[in-house]
Amino acid sequence: MNTNMASNGLDLWLGKQIPRYTSYPPAPFFHDGVTSLDYATALRALPPTDPISVYVHVPFCKQLCLYCGCHTSITRRPERISRYLTALQAELATLARHLPGQLAVSHLHFGGGTPTILNPEEILALFQSLRATFDFSKVQEIAIEIDPRTVTKEKVQALAASGVTRASLGVQDFNPAVQKLVNRHQPFSQVQKVCDWLRSSGIVHINFDLMYGLPMQTPDSVADTARQSLTLAPERISLFSYAHVPQVKPHQKPLEAHGLPDKYHLLEMDSAARAVFKDTGYREIGMDHFARPDDALCHVMDAGNLRRNFQGYTDDLAVTMLGIGASSISRLPNGYYQNERELRTYQDLVATDQIPVVRGLVLTQDDLVRSAIIERLMCNFAADIDAVVAPFGKTVADFKDCMEALKPYQDAGLIAIDGAKIQLTSPYRMAIRVIAAAFDNRTPTKTPTYSRVG
Ligand code: SF4
Repeated sequence: MNTNMASNGLDLWLGKQIPRYTSYPPAPFFHDGVTSLDYATALRALPPTDPISVYVHVPFCKQLCLYCGCHTSITRRPERISRYLTALQAELATLARHLPGQLAVSHLHFGGGTPTILNPEEILALFQSLRATFDFSKVQEIAIEIDPRTVTKEKVQALAASGVTRASLGVQDFNPAVQKLVNRHQPFSQVQKVCDWLRSSGIVHINFDLMYGLPMQTPDSVADTARQSLTLAPERISLFSYAHVPQVKPHQKPLEAHGLPDKYHLLEMDSAARAVFKDTGYREIGMDHFARPDDALCHVMDAGNLRRNFQGYTDDLAVTMLGIGASSISRLPNGYYQNERELRTYQDLVATDQIPVVRGLVLTQDDLVRSAIIERLMCNFAADIDAVVAPFGKTVADFKDCMEALKPYQDAGLIAIDGAKIQLTSPYRMAIRVIAAAFDNRTPTKTPTYSRVG
């Protein structure tokens, strides 16, 4: 451990289990008291002229990466995929009957799992169903997560023909030894080839997802992967810390045998990769994203409008996001609604015209105002609490206990407070999670599993 790093208030936040606040309240607080009937009522109440975003989940992969924290299942049986596609189409048809019209989509995102496990014909068929359900005439972005190991040139062409504009490539680490250890063999040349296919097909917006905190990684090796990534010129990079939660994902357990880095080494890895991106002209977006200065994320960040959702940091300003597929979460103005996670049950529900929502959370006024504060902190690393809560008829005086809870962080030099204004002063952006947590009045009373900060 670098002894200088142990000072500077690090131990107030580093290694603490705190939500990443991709939503507030976090998903572990969803409950089964919220039903498909509640969702149907909320859908009918959506403003028919407001654009929405849509998320489609494809919960299949061909091979399990040992670090995986996603909701997926491993299959090599094409009939399972085609059965799932039929289920997605059934869910879309049911959804269409509950919407107050053909809503306009601003952003469409495919995640997984591995969305590109669908074959070209299935990709085209899914887009046909989506276009029959929603109005795509004003769409700003269609993004898809890509596994470079399983995508083909034909699939890329089908994506381009369907209107996909952005691809996020799961890269994680270019070191073959790390790849072997985590069961994800993916040579640099393969990623390079996929970038070429994407660009020559017209999908020019390319993101890379990188990960640190895996066994065998060092600050130098993580920086090497960062440098290699930049030779392929992605527009955006996500740099995530590996979330080791073997109690929830038992397949992660074998990684412990190879030694996992401690919280100080994690911070050194993050700093090493971060330095590569910053030195090369990429700008930091939020806690863990980087983008070229001309990227749309930089523009919304500079305007103070960066948003945070289940996919991370985004320029998507839509209030409503409809989630399609097993385990998908929808966010509507009045709350969160989550689909059945178990595949067979999800497929049975949609096959009988039922909305597959089985849990969720109706937001209280208190949730809404705290969500607004937490989102501003997570996106801007600063917030004028009075300004954020004024639209809710509140002032900073209503959050006196939260402001008092920030005192130790202020004393340690992590933040500066000036009246109602909070500003992160720590050089470590991820420390914002502990500052945001001061405004979270749900998490401290329960202890679900969250990843560690760092
Ligand atoms: S490809 Fe992604 S979703 Fe699939 S097993 Fe690997 S990490 Fe998990």
